[in-house]
Amino acid sequence: MEQPRIAYLGLGIMGRGMVGNLIAAGYPVTVWNRTAGPVAEFAARGATVAASPREAVADADVIMYCLSNDAAVEAVVFGGDGVLAGVRPGQVALDMSTVYPSLSEREAAAYRAAGAEFLDAPVFGSKGEAAAGGLWIVVGGEREAFERVRPILEVLSETTHYMGGTGKGTAMKLVGNLVVAAQLEALGEAMVLASKAGLDPNDVLGVLHVTDFRSPIFDGVGASLLRRDFSPAFALKHMYKDANLIARFAEELVSPAPAAAVIREVIKGAVNHGWGEENASAMIKMLEVWGKRSVGG
Ligand code: NAP
Repeated sequence: MEQPRIAYLGLGIMGRGMVGNLIAAGYPVTVWNRTAGPVAEFAARGATVAASPREAVADADVIMYCLSNDAAVEAVVFGGDGVLAGVRPGQVALDMSTVYPSLSEREAAAYRAAGAEFLDAPVFGSKGEAAAGGLWIVVGGEREAFERVRPILEVLSETTHYMGGTGKGTAMKLVGNLVVAAQLEALGEAMVLASKAGLDPNDVLGVLHVTDFRSPIFDGVGASLLRRDFSPAFALKHMYKDANLIARFAEELVSPAPAAAVIREVIKGAVNHGWGEENASAMIKMLEVWGKRSVGG
C-alpha cells in the first residue's frame, strides 16, 4: 500500500527530530516552517518545501504540527494562508504541541466543519527521544482516527496512548508536565541542600540513581547540572508556558495545585533572570541564587 503523504509544520527542536524519522521511514513529507532556518536540511533529504501552511497541506493525507504555544497554533492553523484555508475532507490533522485543552476542542470543531479529523497528540520525551523515535505520545480524539495514524505515531514513539475524546491528550500532557516540573524543582532544592550540607554532588546523584525514588530526569538533568550544561532540549520559556497552562487548568477544574503554584514562581523568577532560552533545568539556578550556593561546576 502506498505510504500516506504527510505535511509537517514547525521544525523546532521536536519537529526536526520527528520529521527526520518520518523521512527515514520512507514517508513522503512536505515541510513548512515560519523561518527558513531548518528547511534546507530536510529539502536535501528529500522533503518537499511549502511556502505556507495552506500550500503544505494541499496534497497531504495526514497533517502534523508541533509549535511553541497556543498563539503559534492560532497563527498556523486559523491564520491567513493557514492550515484551515487548505484542509480537505478525509484528512487527519494532529496537533503535537503542548497547548490548552480548549484550544484542542476549537481545533477539532474547525476540522470537523471542514470534513477532516483532528487528534490532539502531544508528546513526552525531549530532543533526544524525538531524534531517536522514542517519544511517548498521548492522544485525544476519535479512536478510529487514532487507529488510522497509529503506524505513523509508532515510527516516532516508544509507546502511544489513546486517552479518550478530544482534549484528553492535551489534558494528559499537562498532568505529566506537572510531574516533570515538580521533579526538576525537587532536584534543584535537594542538590542545593546537599551542597550546603557538604555532600559530594556525584555521591548524591549516585544514591538518587538507585533508590526507590529514582527518575531518569534526576539522572539526565543531574549530570548536566554538574557540568553546568543548560543548553536547551526543552526551553525554560516553554516550561513557563506549561506552568501557566497547568495553573489555568487547575483553576478551571477547581483542582488543588499548591506545589505547582510555588514551582511556577521559581520558574518565573528564573525567566526574569534571563534564562528563558536555556534548558528548563535552568530553573534550578533560581534556587542556587536564593541559597547563595551553586551546585557542581
Ligand atoms: P522550539 O524549538 O522553540 O520550536 C518552536 C516551533 O514553533 C518552531 O518551528 C517555530 O518557528 C514555531 N513557531 C513559534 N511561534 C510561531 C508562530 N507565531 N507562527 C508560526 N510558527 C511559530 O520548540 P520545541 O521544543 O520543538 O517545542 C514545540 C512544542 O512541543 C511546544 O509546545 C513544547 O512545549 C512541546 N514539547 C517540547 C518538548 C521538548 O523537550 N523540547 C517536549 C515535549 C513537548 P521558528 O523556527 O520560525 O521560530
